[in-house]
Parts: sequence; structure tokens; C-alpha cells
Amino acid sequence: MHKLKILTLVGLPFVGVLTAMVLLWNQYLFATDLILMGVLYVLTVLGITVGYHRMLTHQGFRTFWPIRLFFLAWGAMAWEGAPSEWAATHIRHHAHSDEEGDPHSPLDGFWHGHFGWLFSLKNFESAKTYAPHLLKDPVVRFVDKTLLFWFLFSLALPFAIGGWTGLVWGGFVRIFLSTHVTWSVNSICHTFGRKDFESLDESRNHWLIGLLAMGEGWHNNHHAFPKNAFHGIKWWQFDGSGILIRTLEKLGLVWKVERVSKKALDSKTSETSATRTMLGDLRNKLVHSIQEKKKELSHHPALEKKYQQMLKRLDKIQVYLQRKKSWKRQTLLAYEKEIQELYQQLKHRLAKPLKSS
Ligand SMILES: [Zn+2]
Ligand SMILES: [Zn+2]
Repeated sequence: MHKLKILTLVGLPFVGVLTAMVLLWNQYLFATDLILMGVLYVLTVLGITVGYHRMLTHQGFRTFWPIRLFFLAWGAMAWEGAPSEWAATHIRHHAHSDEEGDPHSPLDGFWHGHFGWLFSLKNFESAKTYAPHLLKDPVVRFVDKTLLFWFLFSLALPFAIGGWTGLVWGGFVRIFLSTHVTWSVNSICHTFGRKDFESLDESRNHWLIGLLAMGEGWHNNHHAFPKNAFHGIKWWQFDGSGILIRTLEKLGLVWKVERVSKKALDSKTSETSATRTMLGDLRNKLVHSIQEKKKELSHHPALEKKYQQMLKRLDKIQVYLQRKKSWKRQTLLAYEKEIQELYQQLKHRLAKPLKSS
């Protein structure tokens, strides 16, 4: 049942894109369609980034309830689920980023991180465990309960303004674009891009997703400072959501806006270089430990093929570690575990008499 629901939510916008291609081929496209697509894209993406993410999940700022409702309603129209469930799942992502328990780490496969994770109910978190406070919030409860209305309204609105072609472009194509762009924060921004801070996960800053996802592509900045209402830290890191929050703050419509102090930024920067040194040391330690273990497990010609391959595997890991200079923490830890396991098995085997060849 859940799989069917997700298949519909992911599949319908895709069918919409195919329909749009046919319409385009027949030159059946109006300016209203593109305006609808653009405006609704910006509003629903902001609903997710400013509303669901920065306001609701990370409490990056406070605001009046009508503005809270405004953002959450636009977020609901992005077809990414109910606000409380979205926030709870995202809190779990921050608690277990790129480790076991992360609902959508691309370390479990790029497409799993992008949208494969949606198909398994166990990757969704209920607000009861991760964000019980949200269930007491009347605005959140209202949008949670009226979710289906917002889903349908997000199609009815472009249909009412632009007719059938308006529905295709402003509805389905727009949902296709906004969902894939926001999912890219989980897939692309945990795989490609720059790591300005050592946040002990695989989060990265990616300029293109920064641009398309209204600033959310500066995702390594975000993992380094999750509460910060601004994801662009350097002046050139375009952060559409941040610009909107700053404007609303100037107008007195939002307050208690979370920022990173210069001191926190500096200490994170020095922490980053310390972590990089730590990772370099860990890599050297692993190389050294393989060398030591290999000495101890001196090669024996009578060893069965399976164990010969284990020794070869140790050699291979050593070559990898020596060749590549900068490593991900997760990979190093996985190697450390593998080396230990190989070593234990080999040691155990060598303790027994070997058949003479
Ligand atoms: Zn992340
Ligand atoms: Zn977050």
C-alpha cells in the first residue's frame, strides 16, 4: 500500500513531464504555463526550505501563526508529505547522518539517497519519537490533517488559471522539478561538492543545488551549523531562503533569527583542520597496522585459497590507503573493521596445523 502511494506520487509528475514533452513537440505551450510553473516552483520550494526545514525542523526563527501557516501550506503543496512527519524524518537524518539509521544516506546507494528510500516505510519517522512538540502545535496539526486538500489544491490552482496545459506545467512538471531538486540535497549534496567544514558526515556544498534549491545546496554549511537560518555563509553562496528570512526580519515579521557568531565560525574552522589531521593520522595508523599484521601472518604456501585471498585483500587495502591522501571518515572506519576481521580469521586459521603441500 505504501509502495503504491509513493509510486503514484513519484510516477504522476513523471508522466506529467512526458505529456509536457508531447505538448512542447506540438508547440502547444503558453506563457501562462511557464509563469505558473516558475511562480509555483519558487513558492513550494520556499515552503519546504523556509517552512518545513529552517522554521519547523530547526527552529531557525520565530514568526506569527498566519505566516507559519502560509509557509507550511506551501510546503504541503510541494508533495513531500505532512510537515510533522517530514520534520521528524529530517531530525533522524541529522542524528544519524551517513551512519546506520540515516533514512536517506547515499552511502547506501546514490538512488536510495535520492528517492529509493521513500519506498520503505521504515525510513519515515513519526513525530511522536523525534518531534513530539510539533504534535502540540495547532498550525502543524491543521496542515497535517488537511494534507490531502493541499495536495489537490496545488493541482486545482494551476488548472483554474491555465486550464489543462496549466495543470501539466504548473502542476505536474513543477512537482517533478521541485521534488527532484530537493531530493538532490540528500543525494548530490551528500556525494559531490566541497566540504568546507568537517561535519563528520558526507554533507557537501554544491553551487548548482544551492542555486536551484533556494540555498539548501550549501548543505555542508548546514550540517556544520544546523540551527543557523542562513545556509549560505560566504557572500557569494546564493541563499534565496536566507534572503527571504532576512527581508521578513527587517519588516518585523519574523524574529529570534538564529545566526552563527564569528567566534563559532572560527572555532569550527580550526576544529575542521584538527579533524583533517585526525583523519590523516587514522589513515597512517591503518597502513602501519596492516604492515605489522602482515609481518605476523607471514605468508604460508599451504594456506587454503580462501585465506590466501584474505591476505591479498589486506595488500589491496594497503595499496588503496597509501595511494589516496584524503579519506572519508566512514570509509576509514569500515577499513579498520575489515582489517581487524581479516586479521582475526587469519590468526585463527594459522593457530591450527596446516596441511603440508
Ligand atoms: Zn544532510
Ligand atoms: Zn536540516
